[in-house]
Amino acid sequence: MSTEPLIYDLGRPGRVGVPLPEADVPLADIPAGLVRDELDLPEVDQLTVVRHFTRLSKRNYSIDENMYPLGSCTMKYNPRLNEDTARLPGFAAGHPLIDPELAQGSLALMFQLQEWLKEIGGFAGVTLQPAAGAQGEFTGVLMIRAYHLQRGDAGRTKMLIPDSAHGTNPATVTMAGLEVIELPSDANGNVDIAALKQVIAAQGPQIAGLMITNPNTLGLFEEQLEAVVGAVHGCGGLVYGDGANMNARVGIARPGDLGFDVLHYNLHKTFSTPHGGGGPGSGPVGVAARLVDFLPGPIVGIVDEGTDDEPPLYGWVTPKHSIGRLKAFHGNFGMHVRAYTYIRVHGASGLRANSENAVLNANYLLSKVRGHYHVPYDRLCKHEFVVEGVWPDAPGVHALDVSKRLIDYGYHPPTNYFPLIVHEALMIEPTETESKETLDGFAEALITIAAEAHSQPDLLRDAPHNAPVARLDEVAAAKQLVLCCRPTNLAEPA
Ligand SMILES: *Cc1c(COP(=O)(O)O)cnc(C)c1O
Repeated sequence: MSTEPLIYDLGRPGRVGVPLPEADVPLADIPAGLVRDELDLPEVDQLTVVRHFTRLSKRNYSIDENMYPLGSCTMKYNPRLNEDTARLPGFAAGHPLIDPELAQGSLALMFQLQEWLKEIGGFAGVTLQPAAGAQGEFTGVLMIRAYHLQRGDAGRTKMLIPDSAHGTNPATVTMAGLEVIELPSDANGNVDIAALKQVIAAQGPQIAGLMITNPNTLGLFEEQLEAVVGAVHGCGGLVYGDGANMNARVGIARPGDLGFDVLHYNLHKTFSTPHGGGGPGSGPVGVAARLVDFLPGPIVGIVDEGTDDEPPLYGWVTPKHSIGRLKAFHGNFGMHVRAYTYIRVHGASGLRANSENAVLNANYLLSKVRGHYHVPYDRLCKHEFVVEGVWPDAPGVHALDVSKRLIDYGYHPPTNYFPLIVHEALMIEPTETESKETLDGFAEALITIAAEAHSQPDLLRDAPHNAPVARLDEVAAAKQLVLCCRPTNLAEPA
């Protein structure tokens, strides 16, 4: 741990950030209990506070500093124009309970975003409510279940999920009260068709559907997608698309055209809204015609078509067999404004170019590191690829060591140990917003680290060497949050 002083230790009695003038009105007693004297807050001047928080902020790593090759997460640049539009007072200051007639601009924006996401995915309806991809998955699986139940088909309680899937897929299915059947992948990284047909032959009438990611989490396009979708539809199941990897295919291949019944978009991945600690997510869901009536409500609709002189009137409508409300109010509206801006700025050809460049960048990077790292499923990749962070002739070095060493070279590590079907996986996604020079620099770091793994393995095993904290117990850090800067205080009785 760094030995930087805590802000508490920087305080000096009587030092203040904002000096107030002497009171020129009679003093009144503050009601008991309002001032908590026991808090022992530091007394500090403004400059000390500014320096303290600036120092802390510099311990963070962000896309604004350097490349963030975190596979599956699509850490692309967040255009500043998105921030400007999201801050326009008409959008930012609207209250979610305002009368729709007074919020026509915001509703028109949401309506247009729904229309664009329908067009991009090839779908008949869209909800903007879900707050993240995982909640979009939950929404989609609940709709699939409601669809079967509404037709009196109550026995469909099982969901097929390939073994390369993101962990949220099986978690979603379990939360929705359904049962997971895991599908193996074949030697090329596709769904094993023979295994799929076997499961369907044995349990067809119990299958609610399939959740599939395309391109999958190996960054590979499912080569037999039509056969997979056909087999699932053939037994009466529906197909859920995990759209987290849409950045490889916007403007190129529409999931709806490929037979998907429902798909979530991650606006914070594909459509450049901020990500993780940078802001709340948004996971809109698109559906084919047969699921439109089950969408969560309310969604934005046109309640009065208007005339040549009058614009249409937008309002809230709830679909006939709606599964209900998924999120307070109307989703993370600020994200809708950012994604709307992004789509509007790029237009159809720009969105397609972004996907093409994302795929080009990933293949360029793969071509540079191939030969230095083992590529388990080595074929043309989409927007990301997976290599192994181990070498038979460098025993004792693991993917985690490669990741930690990358921090010394100034890069955020790639996704580690996912997908689970690759031993010692390093999953790398450069995105379209990185320049050739940046990709070259990152490839150079990876290649140097591969050489160090053989010549000086301890350099990797002891890495990172210059970070404020080195190797953390990541499970404890997530499960036993310590939010107090003086953790010992936690142990004292209140
Ligand atoms: C990110 C991701 C999800 C979950 O999305 P969140 O917005 O993080 O909830 C699901 N599947 C895949 C493949 C992902 O990469």
